[in-house]
Amino acid sequence: MEKLILIKYGELTTKKENRKVFIKMLASNINNLLSDYEYEMKYDRVRMYITCDNKYIDEIAEKLSKIFGIHSIVICHKVDNNVDNIKAKVLEVVKLENFKTFKVETKRADKSFEIPSMEFNHVIGGLVLKNFDCKVDVHNPDLRIHIEIRPEGTFIYKNEIAGSGGYPVGIQGKGMLMLSGGIDSPVAGYLALKRGVNVECLYFESPPHTSLNAKNKVIKLASIINEYSGNVKVHVVPFTKLQEAIYQNCPANYNITIMRRMMYRIATKYAMKKKCEILINGESVGQVASQTITSMSVINNVTNMPVIRPVACLDKLEIIKIAEKIGTYETSILPFEDCCTIFLPKHPVINPKLEKCLQYESNFDYESLIDECIENIEVIKNLEPQTYDDLL
Ligand code: ATP
Ligand code: MG
Repeated sequence: MEKLILIKYGELTTKKENRKVFIKMLASNINNLLSDYEYEMKYDRVRMYITCDNKYIDEIAEKLSKIFGIHSIVICHKVDNNVDNIKAKVLEVVKLENFKTFKVETKRADKSFEIPSMEFNHVIGGLVLKNFDCKVDVHNPDLRIHIEIRPEGTFIYKNEIAGSGGYPVGIQGKGMLMLSGGIDSPVAGYLALKRGVNVECLYFESPPHTSLNAKNKVIKLASIINEYSGNVKVHVVPFTKLQEAIYQNCPANYNITIMRRMMYRIATKYAMKKKCEILINGESVGQVASQTITSMSVINNVTNMPVIRPVACLDKLEIIKIAEKIGTYETSILPFEDCCTIFLPKHPVINPKLEKCLQYESNFDYESLIDECIENIEVIKNLEPQTYDDLL
């Protein structure tokens, strides 16, 4: 064997009782992610090891860096717990590096290994100093040489690749994400996945007022989030009739408030049907008229389902930073209209009153329109790459 991948678990190491369940879920998510490769996986309570053909090792490590439940990924060399073998492998690994300063960090988990960690740092440090033109720097070295001596063997590596942290997706059950084509809701979905929630997406479209481009953009966003999960689906709600009924029956300044109450009603009913226990959305306190806390309270009043708003207390710039990091930003800023932006009133109410909403809603039979929306939801499982017409 040449090199192998060593995975250090993320936050799940703090969960004593559930540790086994967490690790099993992570292993199953990794198996899904790597289904196109031949590899072998072994794990215990502390580490997971993946061996594969070394020509795919970097590619696999890159994929693993996106999966939740991993603190870090290390491409390492494994040798027996034998001093001469360790020395030979260290020289072989260090020879390929360009460095002036270094530090050796030994961890001795196998106490039957005869040399204590500190002493072994000196043994290996001396070896490197003798063979290369370099100095020790314990604070800010160019090269860190990690040596982990464990019962199953000694692992030698240089750098750790940061994992995505969080909990393995699926450990928390399912949530229904209200996914628009904006910047906020894909970020909200990513953050929910990071806490281990399995995410399904719900998108409200209003053709012909909203275009196929807008829908394809949402599918594209879902496919990007799916890189962190593997089983995201998009459910498309045909919202036109209900939305038009709102505009015909309610005063303009209440249109958005009532439209959002309808979205929540549909999302709640459909989430229950799909066995989702929570709703997730990209609302951020104070961002627009429908997201003042009075608006949120009046809108939230239609549901008993817990609503998770992962970006509620982030600034727009903080949200954008995450969107850039996870790769959704470029798609989110494509200029296709969402159903929230069409028919946008000049002066949407900032402090809506619940009684008024109830009064306006009694003007029309929205229940049957809601049922019609739900009956006609289109489910998109295959998140193929999307194309857009008439791009600028
Ligand atoms: P932006 O990044 O431009 O703010 P947004 O997606 O946050 O876009 P908002 O108008 O702020 O848009 O809507 C608040 C939240 O409501 C969204 O984050 C999303 O969760 C939900 N939402 C809005 N429009 C839709 C839609 N067409 N389909 C599904 N959910 C939607
Ligand atoms: Mg927003």
